[in-house]
Amino acid sequence: MINETALRREMSALCRSLFERGFAHGSAGNVSARIGDHVLVSPTNSSLGRLDPDRICKVSLAGEHIGGDRPSKEAPLHLGIYAARADAGAIVHLHSTYATLLSCLADTNPEDALPPITPYLAMRVGRVPMVPYYPPGSAELAEAVRAKAGGTRAVLMANHGFVVAGKSFEDAVFNAEEFEENAKLLVLTRGQKVRLLSAADLAALEAKLGKG
Ligand code: ZN
Repeated sequence: MINETALRREMSALCRSLFERGFAHGSAGNVSARIGDHVLVSPTNSSLGRLDPDRICKVSLAGEHIGGDRPSKEAPLHLGIYAARADAGAIVHLHSTYATLLSCLADTNPEDALPPITPYLAMRVGRVPMVPYYPPGSAELAEAVRAKAGGTRAVLMANHGFVVAGKSFEDAVFNAEEFEENAKLLVLTRGQKVRLLSAADLAALEAKLGKG
């Protein structure tokens, strides 16, 4: 398992990269990574572009503050996903432009909010449900996402953004980038005749990946 110092440095470096490429702005977005029985979470009101590795906070899986700065107000969102998914090693939550735009469109399908337009979202993330709008940081939002998280790796949150889990921190970042790129393609092709992947295409991908 990666040691904590290396994980903190990796979180800081990959978040800076996300910020510099426009996946996050201001103090929007937050990230976490599980290490043993603890979770490292980006601090409240911090910029993903400037996370100090030593100040990333550490909480227990129950949310008890152990060290570092105060955790993001959206930490309960992350902790609910860890509780629902034993395979989640890290979580990235972004308000990236196209994913957020999709979450604001009145006709986004809550059961299948990001139909796969290329195989890459299907392989990395799978089907994406959308939960209704609840205030950021609220217990209602954390509970709505937790209720969906057992059966899916990512959830779109109406009028807000998305959250995605990964096996490792780098894996979660890759999944988040794929999520935003797929959202961008869906928005840019809106109104055009698009050939989405068929159910047979998706079944063939799942068989290839060895998933159930
Ligand atoms: Zn948010």
